[in-house]
Amino acid sequence: MDKQRDFVLRTIEERGVKFVRLWFTDVIGTLKSVAIAPAEVEGAFTEGIGFDGSAIEGLTRTYESDLLAHPDPTTFQILPWRGEIDPTARMFCDITTPDGQPAVADPRNVLKRTLAKAADAGFTFYTHPEIEFYLLKAGASPEAIEPVDHAGYFDNVPGGTAHDFRRRSVRMLEDLGISVEYSHHEGGPGQNEIDLRYADGLTMADNIMTFRTVVKEVAIEQGVHATFMPKPLYGEPGSGMHTHMSLFEGDTNAFYEEGAEYQLSKVGRQFIAGLLQHANEIAAVTNQFVNSYKRLWGGDEAPSYITWGHNNRSALVRVPMYKPGKSQSARVEHRGIDSAANPYLAYALMLAAGLKGIQEEYELPAEAEDNVWALSEGERRALGYRPLPSSLEDAVEYMEESELVAETLGEQVFRYVLSNKRREYQQYRSQVTHFELKHSLDII
Ligand code: GLN
Ligand code: MG
Ligand code: MG
Ligand code: MG
Repeated sequence: MDKQRDFVLRTIEERGVKFVRLWFTDVIGTLKSVAIAPAEVEGAFTEGIGFDGSAIEGLTRTYESDLLAHPDPTTFQILPWRGEIDPTARMFCDITTPDGQPAVADPRNVLKRTLAKAADAGFTFYTHPEIEFYLLKAGASPEAIEPVDHAGYFDNVPGGTAHDFRRRSVRMLEDLGISVEYSHHEGGPGQNEIDLRYADGLTMADNIMTFRTVVKEVAIEQGVHATFMPKPLYGEPGSGMHTHMSLFEGDTNAFYEEGAEYQLSKVGRQFIAGLLQHANEIAAVTNQFVNSYKRLWGGDEAPSYITWGHNNRSALVRVPMYKPGKSQSARVEHRGIDSAANPYLAYALMLAAGLKGIQEEYELPAEAEDNVWALSEGERRALGYRPLPSSLEDAVEYMEESELVAETLGEQVFRYVLSNKRREYQQYRSQVTHFELKHSLDII
């Protein structure tokens, strides 16, 4: 630890860093940043930097507003978009109360607590996300948004904005120590996808926060608007954040078993069973906005039913094809989570759901072989395929009853998310929408 701190202090000196940004995340998943002078960094390591937590979404109850941010030296990076003149660096922080206790509502701490539970059971949690987002023309009003191109899945757009955009973003991510595996144009006009190379759950949640910032910065630089909104365009695909997960015991992939069906071990099957069993309870976090449910119920390869499958793209959980000789990469893919989720909380809940499946030895239901959307309601019922929540309101009702979510998030975050999401739904419900006016104004 001290070595890491020394490294940070030395690098600041050598590279002439002028500002150090301390980053942390509120309960909804907004990145917060406070810049300190290099001379303050040593004190930040030893004592933390004080701030008023009551002004940050969900972080404190108002009567206990003083909090401290403690930078994690292992996350030190120089920001590539701040130029050469006044180099700026960043570190992610852990938040504590003034007496040094971890702040219960710090999302990073929620994930750390859940990772510690996994570690108690002998597991390390690895993930890699495929992050989808849209590029829109800059400056349009919300009613008049327009994508930057009309290309589709894997299209190569010569000289196109997206092409350049991805190259620039990938380069910046690599400069920040974040490896990218794939990047391509996605199915919707102006829609793109960038897939990050796997990392442990905490590093990945940090990486996703950095990723969103990088994409926004590159967008500003290139004069376009980037959005992670789950379904920005009616009739076009939504933006998911499919997440591939595995559990390792030491160097061994606990999801791999040679000769088993799909080479998927019992632990892997139980993990999926947990994800399915608790899917509805965790939806208000994996799909946290009113708009998230327009994606889940809008077709275009987003899941609507709680099923799993091998190569089934309508399933909520998919077991990707196993590549011979690659036991290390055996994994399960959660296709429900969207690009607007708070990655710390969502990953904590996905892991907790999977671990519960292992601990309670849940039985995995039969695989869904069909295109689930093509079946009739009656056929789906007969096969036992339960629907995902149809709205944020529906999701909040499931979450309210969930012991797993209350325990994993902790009482304070649990209550905060519920009330924040109820409020969002109430606001939404009171709107008179364009649809209603078009549908009813003249005929009633
Ligand atoms: N955009 C789809 C979703 O919302 C996924 C499309 C794909 O990657 N195959 O989940
Ligand atoms: Mg993909
Ligand atoms: Mg995709
Ligand atoms: Mg995928």
